[in-house]
Amino acid sequence: MRAHTLRPSPAARAWKEIDLDALRHNAQVLSSRLAPGCRLMAVVKADGYGHGAAAVARCLQKSGVHAFAVACLSEGIALRRAGIRGLILILGYTPPEEAPLLRRWRLTQAVADEEHGAALNAAGVPLRVHLALDTGMRRLGVPAEDTAALARLYEMNHLRIGGVFSHLCVSDDPGQPARDYTQSQLTRFYRAVDWLRDNGCDPGAVHIQASGGILRLPPQPCAYARAGIALYGVGSEGAADAMEAGLRPVLSLRARVACVRRLCPGEAAGYGLAFRAERDTRLAVLSIGYADGLPRSLAQNGGRVLLRGRSCPMVGRMCMDQLLVDVTEAPDVRAGDAATLLGQDGALAIRAEEAARRCGTITNELLSRLGHRIGRRQRVN
Ligand SMILES: *Cc1c(COP(=O)(O)O)cnc(C)c1O
Repeated sequence: MRAHTLRPSPAARAWKEIDLDALRHNAQVLSSRLAPGCRLMAVVKADGYGHGAAAVARCLQKSGVHAFAVACLSEGIALRRAGIRGLILILGYTPPEEAPLLRRWRLTQAVADEEHGAALNAAGVPLRVHLALDTGMRRLGVPAEDTAALARLYEMNHLRIGGVFSHLCVSDDPGQPARDYTQSQLTRFYRAVDWLRDNGCDPGAVHIQASGGILRLPPQPCAYARAGIALYGVGSEGAADAMEAGLRPVLSLRARVACVRRLCPGEAAGYGLAFRAERDTRLAVLSIGYADGLPRSLAQNGGRVLLRGRSCPMVGRMCMDQLLVDVTEAPDVRAGDAATLLGQDGALAIRAEEAARRCGTITNELLSRLGHRIGRRQRVN
């Protein structure tokens, strides 16, 4: 008998399995590709790309990673509350009125442009910052050639500039025009860094590579490389880079079979009666749906799940909390079984790259949207 104080098992309905061995392995593989003296900065924004930022960061901290990046203030504070020490860089915008919180939690703020730097400085609180340089992405950053603006930022006496960084926007595109563009971004970046050094402005820790840059560029003369998606063992779009590098997917996604029912030929099922049985059919109802962050289009675009070692097609329209799977070819499937939506089941596996491609997105979006209603547990090997 279960006492009312017990919590539901994370695996009661739909859950993520997080393989921390794979995470450590990936951190090791990526570190080994960096120049001597260059360290991994683990990007754990968006709840660690859906993997659980606190658990991911704690695991990496224990294996020697001492720098982390998040998207916003609340994510940074959550990491500190979870016991994460060392550098926590907020990559996105934080308004100047939050300066006391940046200081209180010893967070390092990216400076989005000169105006942002001036506003943070005017808050009158000493702040640790890294300067973002725009080398061609045209998102955040001071234009890399605007040395006058850089000089003015170094004059702002409340900004403690501990680093200078930029972001590559086409580093995972293998085509020649993209490679040329990446090269021009690198050139602009190092030119600005050299200008700072030559003019008595210490750039501190410099960093420019993200996953694409770590996997495709030669080692860079930087203090950090910011690894996001590659740390989680998947490629942003194709799987080739991640597999070649020997990275292992960290996340598996599973859901319970709620019930199995029979349909006669001609009978239809689900919203809009969008699935119609053409033969005697067994349908399994899975306890996961689009409100859990799965793209609704996955069911219509050939999405599959693994059940008892077989690959079975999703059918009909995905519901908010459930979806239908044709298990006619897997006659032993029954209520309570665990279905695999991402990850390994026996000899078969479904990769996040494959599921993302089916619904016209990238793995970053697919994984980071997996919702909080999904349980999470560590994989026991
Ligand atoms: C999200 C982000 C990263 C991580 O990118 P990945 O491609 O997932 O490695 C690195 N740097 C910045 C500025 C980012 O916004």
